[in-house]
Amino acid sequence: MTHRKAAWQIRLEGKVQGVGFRPFVYRLARGAGLVGWVSNGLEGVHIRVQGEVEALERFSAALLRDHPSIASVTHAEIEEAPLGTDSSFVVRESSREGKATVLLLPDLDLCESCRREMTDPRNRRFQYPFITCTDCGPRYSIIQGLPYDRERTTMAPFAMCPECAREYRDPADRRFYSQTNSCPACGVRADLLDPRGLRLASGGEALDVAAKRIAQGEIVALKGVGGYLLLVDAANEKAVAELRRRKQRPIKPFALLFADLDAIRREACVGPEEERWLRRREKPIVILNRKEGPTRIASGVAPEEDTLGIMLPSAPLPALLLDRLAGPVVATSANRSESPILATEEEILAEWGEGVDAVLSHNREIESRLDDSVVRLSPFFRQPILLRRARGFAPLYLAQGFELGREAAILAMGAQQKATVTLAHQGNIYLSQSLGDLEGWEAQENFRRVLAHFRRLLSFVPRQIVVDRHPQYTSTEEGRSLARELGREAEEVQHQKAHFWSLLAEHSLFWEREPVLGVIWDGTGLGEDGAIWGGEFFLWREGRMERVAHLDYFPLLLGEKAIREPRLSALSLWHSSEALRARLEAKLRPTERPIFRALLARGGAPRTSSIGRLFDGLASLLGLSDRVSFEGEAARRLERIALRAARTLGGIDKLRNQEPYPLPLPSSDGVVRLDDLREEVARDLVRGAPPGEIALRFHLSLAHLAGRVAEWTGARHLALGGGVFQNGLLVDLVEALWGEQLSVYISHDLSPNDESISFGQMVASAWRSGNLRKAG
Ligand SMILES: [Zn+2]
Ligand SMILES: [Zn+2]
Repeated sequence: MTHRKAAWQIRLEGKVQGVGFRPFVYRLARGAGLVGWVSNGLEGVHIRVQGEVEALERFSAALLRDHPSIASVTHAEIEEAPLGTDSSFVVRESSREGKATVLLLPDLDLCESCRREMTDPRNRRFQYPFITCTDCGPRYSIIQGLPYDRERTTMAPFAMCPECAREYRDPADRRFYSQTNSCPACGVRADLLDPRGLRLASGGEALDVAAKRIAQGEIVALKGVGGYLLLVDAANEKAVAELRRRKQRPIKPFALLFADLDAIRREACVGPEEERWLRRREKPIVILNRKEGPTRIASGVAPEEDTLGIMLPSAPLPALLLDRLAGPVVATSANRSESPILATEEEILAEWGEGVDAVLSHNREIESRLDDSVVRLSPFFRQPILLRRARGFAPLYLAQGFELGREAAILAMGAQQKATVTLAHQGNIYLSQSLGDLEGWEAQENFRRVLAHFRRLLSFVPRQIVVDRHPQYTSTEEGRSLARELGREAEEVQHQKAHFWSLLAEHSLFWEREPVLGVIWDGTGLGEDGAIWGGEFFLWREGRMERVAHLDYFPLLLGEKAIREPRLSALSLWHSSEALRARLEAKLRPTERPIFRALLARGGAPRTSSIGRLFDGLASLLGLSDRVSFEGEAARRLERIALRAARTLGGIDKLRNQEPYPLPLPSSDGVVRLDDLREEVARDLVRGAPPGEIALRFHLSLAHLAGRVAEWTGARHLALGGGVFQNGLLVDLVEALWGEQLSVYISHDLSPNDESISFGQMVASAWRSGNLRKAG
């Protein structure tokens, strides 16, 4: 056995800051009798250890194997170094040299150990709403600079008291080196404010009064991890109606915040998969099926819906507030629709004034605004579908199956609706939170702010800038102007193709020997032929992406206005149907009729293959929705009645034998004609078939088509993407019909909607520039 001494220099990259990594290394090195130091650097964790070679080997193996479970190491480098004179093992000051490549950690929910302390009357943090440790607490939402240290977070103004400082320095303490460490004596303070900003109460009393106000039916704003939420008693019909009135939100469902899982079980069906998602550390809103029978939830919370969007508290403050209430609360973001979530006291007071009855705030600032994330589970196979990826997930994305070259410095600007940005930097991927629709000035400002924040944090200078083809997207304009500034040419990736690139990367399908069919269905994306695409079939074969088929074009009446008025899609799709003439005319005011007749006859409207608009058109035809108050409303109604019909039939197995509407295979020019489907739908309507039955057959036809086109192209893999695949019934139908013959892929870590466009753009650019390769 050798007793040779050596010194090793170790560098780790990945999710290694803000996860208790330095304390872990410290204890491990001390335990192994090694000397040296550990410190945070811009790219991760640096370690120098010295001792017997055998001990060093054991140490490095344990380093990669036993690290905190929320951490992950993406890259490790070990080098022999000259022996030094260290006499013990210490945690060193962070180094700010080199390039920032460390991954930014998402915000972490309250951990079990902290929850126990918070509810233990003998603990000095009893009832402290900002309790954290190395395993929990805010991260991304408070980080202002790198490496991750308190002085570069919004915790900087809070100086630790002697007791907190002692914990921070004590290697045996679970708050050793915890950057967010604080207590009631030295930490963050909760305040209850009146609508003019006057303080009504502080600390525990602020929570007591806020709870009482909510119980009395008032609207209380709460400063959450990523911004302000509006809370009302979920059982109070009047309070919920008042919230709808003040928020000017007629029917879009509100999310609910529950104290615990048992309380959720009383209102909703919670199977193992649902439970897993509710408990996950990201604490997303999970869309659950309502339970049959009596309910305490006010009907105004989710009118029409068979589901409820429910989450558990992600932070101690809401958890403590819920403990003071007898039941769940509505928790909806306090912004006006489509503007970003409000993050400062000034904003909430200025925006709402007397519109809220009180504000439960605190004095720790929010650096990055984050909405709550939302996930649904498909109705039959319980496949998770992310509808919004924000708090808890962003800005982390860990590639699986592929890696990016370190030379790649790519900035991808995303779409216009459900905007995000993606950065490829030093081999890492940073995917922003959902930034909403970039229509209003505030949303555009927030978009620029997030982009600037990432660039500053990482000292990021893009070499490649990728934009959508649509020249008027705010994201495209921003990208082009940045490219000009840097003297570069912006690169374009077509919208639906970006969806497909995203799927190819997520499932690492680039190197499949068999072709992959990308079925990309969504609302609108500017196509390469000038038409508005949205019902597309792409084939990935031997490293090339090709559009092989698409839905037949139909006119998009009044362009973007069609999105808000499904009746326009019904008109453009079915206007030549004699049988439906009266039905369609009834949707128009007499003065509108000649205008639309002329528009359709002249053929001047842009053409579209959008399946989103096809959903809209059918929803309108079935009398479900002629004008919508939120995006996706018509499609959601269509899915709902189809799902009810499917359940009446007795589940997914029965659906395999149902007759779909006729949708022919693509003709030689790749066009899938809609005439037969339109005609049969009209016939069903005229004979008075139940809308649910028609809606279900429609879903079934699309699911059949996806697989039949795959067979037609010889593809063995079927990748489904685009906003239409937020539809859980459709996803399950494809799986039920084709899951045995084909490998079916949907997004797991990203949303199928436009949030993943920036990621897909980045992937396309990395592939084209030779910077994307199979993971070794
Ligand atoms: Zn904790
Ligand atoms: Zn303290």
